[in-house]
Amino acid sequence: MQSDQTRPETDTTAETDSDRPTPDSEAVSAAQSNTASTPTPEPARRRRSRPWLLACLLAALIALLVYRPAWRADAAVWARTTAMDTFHISPRDIYAARLRIAGIEDSALGQRWRNAVARAGADPGRFTTRYATRGTFVPDTIEAHVYQTTLERGERFQVRLQRDAPACAGCRNALYADIERRDTDSDDSNAWAHVSGLPANGEIQSFVTDRDGDYRVVLQPELAAAVRYDVAMARGGSLSFPVKGAAARDIGSGFGAPRDGGSRRHHGVDIFAARGTPVTAVADGRVRTGTGGIGGNHVWLSSGMLGIGGARYYYAHLDSFNVESGASVSKGDVLGYVGNTGNARTTPPHLHFGIYTSFGPVDPAPFLRPPAQLAAVPSSRR
Ligand SMILES: [Zn+2]
Repeated sequence: MQSDQTRPETDTTAETDSDRPTPDSEAVSAAQSNTASTPTPEPARRRRSRPWLLACLLAALIALLVYRPAWRADAAVWARTTAMDTFHISPRDIYAARLRIAGIEDSALGQRWRNAVARAGADPGRFTTRYATRGTFVPDTIEAHVYQTTLERGERFQVRLQRDAPACAGCRNALYADIERRDTDSDDSNAWAHVSGLPANGEIQSFVTDRDGDYRVVLQPELAAAVRYDVAMARGGSLSFPVKGAAARDIGSGFGAPRDGGSRRHHGVDIFAARGTPVTAVADGRVRTGTGGIGGNHVWLSSGMLGIGGARYYYAHLDSFNVESGASVSKGDVLGYVGNTGNARTTPPHLHFGIYTSFGPVDPAPFLRPPAQLAAVPSSRR
């Protein structure tokens, strides 16, 4: 960003503590005192009453599941996926275990199947923003397909995988599909951690990344399977843009830019827009407004359960408010209007937008990228 040249921004000297807004620490201590002051009355009585309550709930649940076969099927799927997500066991792992039990794993065939992902992963199909293709596995070759990209914290990653119907009745066509992240905690530089399974039914699988890193889509069929599939992948922002009619190109000063001659860093992004442009809630939550200090007219938006545990979004330098402190808001609601109050009074109107997690400020830019758009599979490849 070359905002320093192109914009008469005096942020470097003026915007003294929008990174360290004082209400922030209040919220943290409030959250802490909330948890600290949790009362623990009559523990003995509570303990006695719980088994009965659990037994009743369980009995009611079983009765419902016996009564409704459709729910029973859903519950089975839910239990299986929950178990897999909890213990990081994928259907591919289960198939590998079956090969082991059948004594095939150590055969040349089994070893080739087991090493197929490592072979494909050494030279993956790489993409930057989005990618779509049609792939084929034939029964007499044993291989895997790997598609890889690099994501930044706060980006949303979308994948849509559609497997064709089997070529014949009874033809093998099981396809194991997973999303993985490079495991930087491991000593092995080529270790990958399971993020989630990927349905092959054309449903979009989507998640927001909580850390920067390499991510990949891994596809592998069972042995001797014939599988054709379409896959589309895309990355993009995970939040709606907080200034109406503005976009990423209007960000004039980025996260981490030096402030006060380099003694501190900018803990948000500055989004330039005409005075009076509406600023909107990026999430459902509760707001708190303030008028003082370097942020001028500012809003804290707390998402998550009871405003605790989720991220907090900071909107500063507003011209005026459209919400009252303490109000609950929905995503997209107008919180106020762009201005240059606080220490931005000598700069053109802009919104200073910050995102704070319990570990501190994070760069909002990846969150604010244009949304992911899955491409259609090119017809020439079909
Ligand atoms: Zn700023």
